[in-house]
This record gives sequence, structure tokens and C-alpha cells, in this order.
Amino acid sequence: MAEDALNWGVEGLLASIDACPTPFHVVERAAAALTAAGFTQMDEVTVWPDASGSRFVCRDGSLIAWRHRTCEEGFRIIGAHTDSPNLRITPQPDTGQVGFRQLGVEVYGGVLLNSWLDRDLGVAGRVATSSGTRLFRIDEAVLRVPQLAIHLDREVNQKGLLLNPQTHLTPVWGLGLRSPGEFPDVVAEAAGLGSDEVLAWDAMLHDLTPSTVGGLDGEFIFAPRIDNQVSCWAGLQALLDSPAGAVPSAVLCLFDHEEVGSVSAQGATSPLLTTVLERIAGSRDALHPALARSLCLSADGAHATHPNYPERHEPDHHIAIGAGPVIKRNANLRYATDAVGEAAFAAACEKAGVSHQVYAHRSDMPCGSTIGPLAAANTGVTTVDAGVAQLSMHSAREMCGTQDPLDFAQALGAFLSAAT
Ligand code: ZN
Repeated sequence: MAEDALNWGVEGLLASIDACPTPFHVVERAAAALTAAGFTQMDEVTVWPDASGSRFVCRDGSLIAWRHRTCEEGFRIIGAHTDSPNLRITPQPDTGQVGFRQLGVEVYGGVLLNSWLDRDLGVAGRVATSSGTRLFRIDEAVLRVPQLAIHLDREVNQKGLLLNPQTHLTPVWGLGLRSPGEFPDVVAEAAGLGSDEVLAWDAMLHDLTPSTVGGLDGEFIFAPRIDNQVSCWAGLQALLDSPAGAVPSAVLCLFDHEEVGSVSAQGATSPLLTTVLERIAGSRDALHPALARSLCLSADGAHATHPNYPERHEPDHHIAIGAGPVIKRNANLRYATDAVGEAAFAAACEKAGVSHQVYAHRSDMPCGSTIGPLAAANTGVTTVDAGVAQLSMHSAREMCGTQDPLDFAQALGAFLSAAT
């Protein structure tokens, strides 16, 4: 597994996405890659007399990794998020109607609901036992959310598809009467445990179609979870490529829960990053001047200009797939980037030999956001929001360019190695 994660190139990226149906799998895979590269895992519940060197710590669906020798030049921080919008299994999921066994789901984040229809779906996540947690995944087509036939919804192409998340997204997974306790049994078996050992679960659906390179000349990547596993992969590559005694210290943060606002014990608004940085610095007195010298890059997907809807984009800030990393600006700080941050990342792109683009949202449409402004508010560190241009953001199946993730990883590498 670690060898795949370390595989530089598009094949490594596609393998990484397919291997990670949930944030927990992203963290497990990143941890394996870091360990294989000589990083040491730290335990949050112990005192860290010395956190220098190449290390990482995991907290559920979040991970922070670093290379540290001295605080003299501060930290260069890359942040990304491990979660993607999807459908998540309810606590008492076994349900059904009219002869179908079904599973109850809740919508997680800003899902394009229609994108989950008529797909072959697996289920993955983690189970909690009395002795900890264990990951599981079922990569067989056990679930499907069937769309209503057009003969029973004659106006759907004229009036659009309206989906009620409570009633229209419940996947089928068998025939017969609902069977309370069936889902926990299936999950326990997938986790290699007995039914009585599984106390609870975090479980979510994933599309089983493998990620692929597409387009006539292989210009595109078609895959799930491009937002934001492309950034997680690029950030991890950049950190793995950074020198062991990096100055400034190189830090990679992979946060869960961005798609629902980042307010959790391990999200970007949590104290996770600042407490880890303080432990790396050795004291609060050492931390504060280090933070004042630091720079953060919040890595997340950017909107490419859609060829079928160019009018939805700011006409003087069109973003092209294949034209390099996108720096995101927003006057109302939905993105954290200011002139200083933009200049710093533009310089990193130039150093890496890749072009970059600058995005601005239309003023007459509400703008999305990401972990950048939250991390900036939490740490006081100058932050730039940047990422890979993509289409179909928040669909179960998204697309981006083939070259852009590689260029982004190169630019992130240059960002980490640039002196503050
Ligand atoms: Zn995102």
C-alpha cells in the first residue's frame, strides 16, 4: 500500500483515490506512506520531550505530519481536507418498503444529490469496539439509489430533477422484509469482527467505478473525491520530497470535516494544529515568534470555467484545466489569500517552473469557502488558498486535468522549501 502512495505520477494519484473511500482511509494510507518514508508516529496522549525530525500524529480522520529541526524560520504549512460530500449510513439503518430491503442514509455536506443515482455503490468506514476502532470497506455493488423512470416523471427534463434527501435517496440493498441488525452484522464481517464486538460505526457510501485517465489525448482525470484528495495527495508528495531537516519546518495538515464547516475536535477550527505546533516548538514562548514567521497554504479544489456555463464565471478570471495551480482570491475572505500570500505562492510556482492562474468568483453569486480562512483565524498565520482546477465539484464523480495535480505537487514542494 505504501508503495502506491509513494508512487509519483498520475497512476499513484488514481490508486490513492481508489484506495481511500473515506477520510479514515486517507489518514491510514498517508500514515503508511509516511511510515515507509521514515516518519515516526507520535501518540497524542503522551508527553513529547522532543518532536524534531520527521514525525506525524493522527486523530480520527485528520493527520498532521512534519519535518522539523529549528523554529528559527517558522513553519511552512500545507493544509487540505480528507472528507468529501457523500451519503452516510444512519445509526439504525435497516429499513425498507414495498418488498425492498433498504438502508437509511443522511446527506453529508453539499452533495450534488443527482450524482448518486444509478451508481453501483459500496460502503466503507470504521467500526468502534470496546478496544478501539477498525476500518472496513465493501467494494462490491451492494447498494444502489435507483432513479424514477421517466415514464413516471414526465416533466423531469423540462422542470429539472427535485430530490428529497429523506425520501428519494434511500438505497436498496436487497429483497424481502427489513431485517433489523442486518447492517451491523454485514459491517462486522467486513471488519473481520464478531457482531457482538461492533458497538457503533461511521459508515458512508462510495461509487465503485475506478478512477481513470480520460479525454482523447488523456488530458483529464475522471474520479470521485478529487475535492479534496488531489490536494491531500499533492501535499503528501511535497512533504515526502522535502529535505529531512527542512528549514523552515515543513508541516502537512489533513483535516476532516471541511465539508460540514470544520467545527469538530479534529477539524480545521479545532486546536489540533496549534497544539501540535506548540509541542513541536517546545513551548508557547517559542511558538509565537515561529508563527509570526510562518506561512500557510490551504490546498483545495478550484472551479475551472465550465464550457457549457461560461456565464456562471467571472468573465475576466476564467480558469482553464491544464493551465496550472489556481490561486483563489475573495474580497470577503471566503478565501484567505491576500497580496502577500498570492505573491508567495506565485513565486513558488515560478520556482517550480509551473504556470499559475488567479480565481475570483462572480460578485452576484455567493462564493464557496474552505479551510484557509478558518486556519488563518485560528493560527494568525498568513494563508493563501490555492488548488487544482476541476469541474463537477461535489459530484460523486468529478474531473480535473492530468497534468495539474503533478504541477500542484511541484509548486507545493517549492512552497515548502522557500525561505520565509
Ligand atoms: Zn474542498
